[in-house]
Amino acid sequence: MATTPNVTPNNLESFWMPFSANRQFKRDPRMFVAADGMYYTTADGRKVLDGTAGLWCVNAGHARKQIVEAVQAQVAELDYAPAFQMGHPKAFELAARLCAMMPEGLDHVFYTNSGSESVETALKIAIAYQKARGETGRYRLIGRERGYHGVNFGGISVGGIVSNRKTFGPLLNGVDHLPHTHDLARNAFTRGEPQNGAELADELERIVALHDPSTVAAVIVEPVAGSTGVLIPPVGYLKRLREICDKHGIVLIFDEVITGFGRLGKPFATHYFDVKPDLITTAKGLTNGVIPMGAVFARKEIYDAFMTGPDHMIELFHGYTYSGHPVGCAAALACLDIYREESLFERGDGIYDYFADALHSLRDVKNVIDIRNIGLVGAIELEGIAGQPTKRAFSAFLEAYEKNLLIRTTGDIIALSPPLIVTRAQIDELFGTLRDVLENLD
Ligand code: PLP
Repeated sequence: MATTPNVTPNNLESFWMPFSANRQFKRDPRMFVAADGMYYTTADGRKVLDGTAGLWCVNAGHARKQIVEAVQAQVAELDYAPAFQMGHPKAFELAARLCAMMPEGLDHVFYTNSGSESVETALKIAIAYQKARGETGRYRLIGRERGYHGVNFGGISVGGIVSNRKTFGPLLNGVDHLPHTHDLARNAFTRGEPQNGAELADELERIVALHDPSTVAAVIVEPVAGSTGVLIPPVGYLKRLREICDKHGIVLIFDEVITGFGRLGKPFATHYFDVKPDLITTAKGLTNGVIPMGAVFARKEIYDAFMTGPDHMIELFHGYTYSGHPVGCAAALACLDIYREESLFERGDGIYDYFADALHSLRDVKNVIDIRNIGLVGAIELEGIAGQPTKRAFSAFLEAYEKNLLIRTTGDIIALSPPLIVTRAQIDELFGTLRDVLENLD
């Protein structure tokens, strides 16, 4: 079998890298050439512990044989089937298995190819659903400050990250934002859900009243905001959002692209927080990151609202060439088998507490101003260097990589989300290295 040589290409110029400091990278590249289990292999032959499950997606660990073999077999058997007006069995089998994991009522799935596409799909379904049920004036979308919903125009409009929005023009009309829930003054160093801040959900009442409820189609939030630094919802906050949405006929969307597939120690955040939204967006852990694929779960009432009119007519004018791609479905089915066989959604071995203890043991390290955790997600917030935001955390990232650990940083926050197969020894390795990195940082 051909293997990729462990060499670094000598022309790095052509590839315009996403969400990267291109010039810095190309001066001093960091290349992975292989991965297995909890470790990447670098071009210079080092093993790097994956503290981030790639980009929050490799939940079952790298190079899982069952997934590799399923993908190989699928490519050989049925490489592609048209997604429109045609089907293939695995797309239906996967949809049924996915819905069986969900709370009752979330029993339909629409396939996409990424988290960003899942978000666009959910926003469009929400608006179209309101129209389908006769609420034709509802077009407004409410997101939240510090929310990340991917990079397409709908997603950056409802998203709340200034740098992702400010250079791209006026964005969507009719969008407003809830305040974020991050409150260091009241909640620093909380384990799990913070006690303070449920009242921030009441801001939704104010926003809805301002615009008139009959114009509001949907609210979208990440149950736990991941990309802006692991912002965990205050106790009772999500339940309150649900109540207000119910009161005003607003569709509630949970963006579970990160929180789905076991990240919180439950199958999804909807299980963890016991709050049922109307639509759920997913991607990442759906295929363990192996094949790009996403999915949107929809409540029965939403699906049913579209199933009207002559039966030769298309009900929803939306979809992607690669929706429900056979290879993606094969990867996802194998991935669901692993999650079930290894009980990765709810490990019963005390790993969540072990992870939390190890994470919070860094509280005494210099420049650390907050630590927070939920499931197998943790964040360490650093005091920024005056006048140079993001620099300290980015230096930690570079230094960690030199010390054989992959972490992720956003602003001056370090986010950690190891694959769900992580062992206690690897947790010790992760936090031992990180302590060393942070203690030796300016
Ligand atoms: N939504 C959330 C909550 C995410 O965390 C992400 C990616 O990190 C996305 C959407 C976008 O996913 P993708 O990068 O697959 O488009």
